[in-house]
Amino acid sequence: MTEAMKEKRKSSKQVKSHDNYFVLTGNPFVDAGIYAIESYYGKDYSVLTPSDLDKKIDCIVDLYLKDGWNKNIYSIFTGNSKFTNPSIKDKKTSSEKFFGDLLKGFSLPGNSGSCIACGRRDALPIRKREEIPLTGSGKLINFFSGASAGERYCPVCTFAVQFLPLFLYSLGKYFLLFHSVAYNIMRIRAKKGIKNIQGQIAANNYTGCMQDDYKNGENALFHIVEDTIREQKEIFPKENPSITAYIFSNYTQNPPPMQIIHLPNSVFRFLVYVQRIDNVSWRKIVNKGFGVLKKEDDYKWKNNRVYKNLLNGWSIIAYFIERNKTVIGNWEIFTYYLKEVREMDEKRIDVLKRVGDKIADYIKKTDNTKRLFALETAKSYEGLRNIFLKITKGMITNGMDAPLFTTDEFLNDLFPEGALTWKETRDILLFRIYEKSSDYLKEKKEIFEEIKENEEV
Ligand SMILES: [Zn+2]
Repeated sequence: MTEAMKEKRKSSKQVKSHDNYFVLTGNPFVDAGIYAIESYYGKDYSVLTPSDLDKKIDCIVDLYLKDGWNKNIYSIFTGNSKFTNPSIKDKKTSSEKFFGDLLKGFSLPGNSGSCIACGRRDALPIRKREEIPLTGSGKLINFFSGASAGERYCPVCTFAVQFLPLFLYSLGKYFLLFHSVAYNIMRIRAKKGIKNIQGQIAANNYTGCMQDDYKNGENALFHIVEDTIREQKEIFPKENPSITAYIFSNYTQNPPPMQIIHLPNSVFRFLVYVQRIDNVSWRKIVNKGFGVLKKEDDYKWKNNRVYKNLLNGWSIIAYFIERNKTVIGNWEIFTYYLKEVREMDEKRIDVLKRVGDKIADYIKKTDNTKRLFALETAKSYEGLRNIFLKITKGMITNGMDAPLFTTDEFLNDLFPEGALTWKETRDILLFRIYEKSSDYLKEKKEIFEEIKENEEV
């Protein structure tokens, strides 16, 4: 590369913000469109000019007029859009004119403006839902819950939104709009969108937006995120990408309310970690969240308890433990989850580990398998405390290093919220006991089965 070329590249990277037509807005529809444009034109969005953009308008119109895509466009831009309206005879010409008119209205962003997305350019005319999904229906205000005729989007933001179909993920009747503040993740998604089109062109089979037959928005979001993490080695746990999925349809009749799913950063960090460290165990845990699947493809629509709990800030601790007294994963993975997602402090985890180890040693030394059974089947906070007391007494009788824990540890580390989270504490202890005594428990398998049978009688 010559010095002049290097200089040119450098200066093009350092364009001042007011030299760019496209600016990220935080509006998920516009931002997704901007990333789709970048991938579609194969050029950094910050350097694209109206004359660059003009060059590939006819290709995008051709694509949108193909059956598979047109069907999706119906639910993205309604049946009244330039691409779908049955009363328009020459859709190609009118669609290209629509894009052309938007390009003519392009201006560089200023310091203020009425556009609700960028806020840096004025927005006239008002855009309706056949141009921007979920805005308004013009005079037919009864179709739109907000009863507004439309929304204020400038020509540049409106142009960007026209590329939304390249970025959307189809769930059949609905679409999943993926949004993140992390540039690299948005760029990976946008590239996937272009790959989808290239595949369709190569196969001469136009099936529309990206999709894998998922119908469940939560499952699809995890599928997208986990897929992205697996394929991209340069994504790190500390990324904090703040990921949100907007599930929507702009279909004219009875469109459902938009569903918004936020994936907490802590869950993202955990997903990166667990997939890199031990994806086999992670898949086992996720599969438990589905319960029984009757058909192979059921996981694409059936609710998953593990995913749901992660999205709602509820615990998945119980999913690490198996009924046959084994664990999925190991203490390292388990405690990463406790620390990162459950926000447990290191000291509490250390105390629980030590108490778990002591109980495991006690059971092994005294062969008191009944005590373990009692721990597993404890019905209340009081019941659990009672078991601890019995174990402590047993430890003293057998000359073991008692007590099980100090009063301070009991109050601050075992039950910091009193009776509220006693099950969580019990399950963490069980994880540790099962992991530490796996050989012993295997040996005693028959005895445990006997205890269980007797109890059931
Ligand atoms: Zn704008």
